[in-house]
Amino acid sequence: MRNALTIDVEEYFQAHAYAKVIERADWERIPGRVAANVRRLLALLAEHGTHATFFILGWVADRHPELVREIAAAGHEVGSHGYAHQLVDRQGPEEFAADLARSLAAIGRALGQPGALLGYRAPGFSLTARTLWALDILRAQGIRYDSSLQPMLTRRGNGAYGASRFATRLDAGLWEFPVSTVRLAGWNCPVAGGAYFRLLPLWVTRRAIERINAEGRPAVVYLHPWEMDPEEPDVPEAPFLARARHRLNLGRTEARLRSLLGERAFGPLCEVFAAELGKG
Ligand SMILES: [Zn+2]
Repeated sequence: MRNALTIDVEEYFQAHAYAKVIERADWERIPGRVAANVRRLLALLAEHGTHATFFILGWVADRHPELVREIAAAGHEVGSHGYAHQLVDRQGPEEFAADLARSLAAIGRALGQPGALLGYRAPGFSLTARTLWALDILRAQGIRYDSSLQPMLTRRGNGAYGASRFATRLDAGLWEFPVSTVRLAGWNCPVAGGAYFRLLPLWVTRRAIERINAEGRPAVVYLHPWEMDPEEPDVPEAPFLARARHRLNLGRTEARLRSLLGERAFGPLCEVFAAELGKG
């Protein structure tokens, strides 16, 4: 069974661990690392003949349009991660619609092909039970699927508890392809990416994918390019726990991903869920 691999393309300093200490105005003056990190990841995926979905931040697309073109030219799917990495639950509908439109325009300009994107992932998985109004806005702007709803109570208490763990057609006419969770003691537990992928031993991720596949479902895994960058500059003024979580095992992620890519078949969401999307 083919699983889905998804990458949220953003700079390390845009991650939420640093939101309290790095202002948006500072983004312009901090040397960026995303282009080099994405290129390393593209080389790794090419080695394994694997394609993925890249949810790109509009801010990154505006500064690195050539990177967006390289991702698409290598055969990967391009989706939107919003424009300015603002959490959906901190925006009203109008702000959210404007941020989304700006991101789609930036990525469309980079690709020279406006309106071609199918998928969206909210910054920090912040599309939740409290912000379901965002689904209508996604649909209205031409998005066909979302990959942001987490069927659990999250650390920030903002998940979509009760949402499905698997591909679902939502009322708004969108498809939801949630990042994978496994059932443990009656709870949905995240295992399939980000800090969990770096924090847990690789066999846990491997076993989780096996369990999800045994349920007859593809796993949906996610990572960030900065998670494969052991040279990432430290941000010592960030809160201790957030910083520790952000920096843990940055030197191990690439080797772990390489192992997984060697063991299992992965593809972009638009291909793994082609049948669902074909149903409209
Ligand atoms: Zn993000």
